[in-house]
Amino acid sequence: MRDKSSQIIPVQPEDDLPLVDCHCHYPDKEPYRKPLMSHQAEYDHFFEENKGQFIITSGSEWDYDFIQEFMETHDRMYFTMGVVNPSDRRSSEKFNAKRREYIDFLINNTDKYIAIGEFGLDFHHAKTLKMRKEQVHQFKKIVQETKQLNKPYVLHVRNPSEKDVDQKNPDHEYNGATICNRIILDILEEEEIPPSKVMWHCFSGPVEWGPKIAEKGYYLSVPSSAYGFKRWRRNIKGIPLENILTETDACFQHPFKMGTFNTPANVKYSIAAIAHEKEITQKQVADQVLVNAKKLFGI
Ligand SMILES: [Zn+2]
Repeated sequence: MRDKSSQIIPVQPEDDLPLVDCHCHYPDKEPYRKPLMSHQAEYDHFFEENKGQFIITSGSEWDYDFIQEFMETHDRMYFTMGVVNPSDRRSSEKFNAKRREYIDFLINNTDKYIAIGEFGLDFHHAKTLKMRKEQVHQFKKIVQETKQLNKPYVLHVRNPSEKDVDQKNPDHEYNGATICNRIILDILEEEEIPPSKVMWHCFSGPVEWGPKIAEKGYYLSVPSSAYGFKRWRRNIKGIPLENILTETDACFQHPFKMGTFNTPANVKYSIAAIAHEKEITQKQVADQVLVNAKKLFGI
């Protein structure tokens, strides 16, 4: 059966808006499928054909060298250093060793990145209780061991869906539809992390949690695919403009629910979706997102 949402025609983005991509994986070291244009063409498309202001790209140990090399010859790009969430069968000792390496890197290279992440909880990819507990343990440790660095955090938060129930522990609270949101909020509050230093990247809901998290002062980032998802469109309505950021998560996500290979300039679709839901102009959205992004990332 054809997915109805793929038939939605997105609102048209305007030209000449100041664009900010607050989270992407550009340039991608190994594209997951054939890109539409070269990395240089994507860069020119963002900064010259559109009025791109800056790109905040996220990497990890795996693509750090590749992205840094590109950034040496391309200005107006900033980097956030992330780590892969535990979701495989490695032992706890191995995850601890990885974490220590990561923290050492963060402590010794503070001039190489503007924020810590993406990292977080992903109970879609971690389906067993053991892995989920490991993720929570590592998440808490990373926050505890990096908070003195005073850098913003970029969070990846994916709650388990009904299909992600841990079959061996079906009644465990870690199968709950909002469990990752709750654990993360608890840890951030316990560790006294100021909400104004935290971005929830590609926040996936549920809907009532958008306003709740924004009210505490956190930033929520709207992906370029937002218009294609009902839950996202409803979410946008309840989040004040002062707490909203825009991102593509390129080369992942799309301006449509299903679509072409994503690129940072598609962040204009996030702006169009926000303006449409809030019934304000795209210019108002773009201007405020620019202010928000500069504030959060200290740019
Ligand atoms: Zn990402």
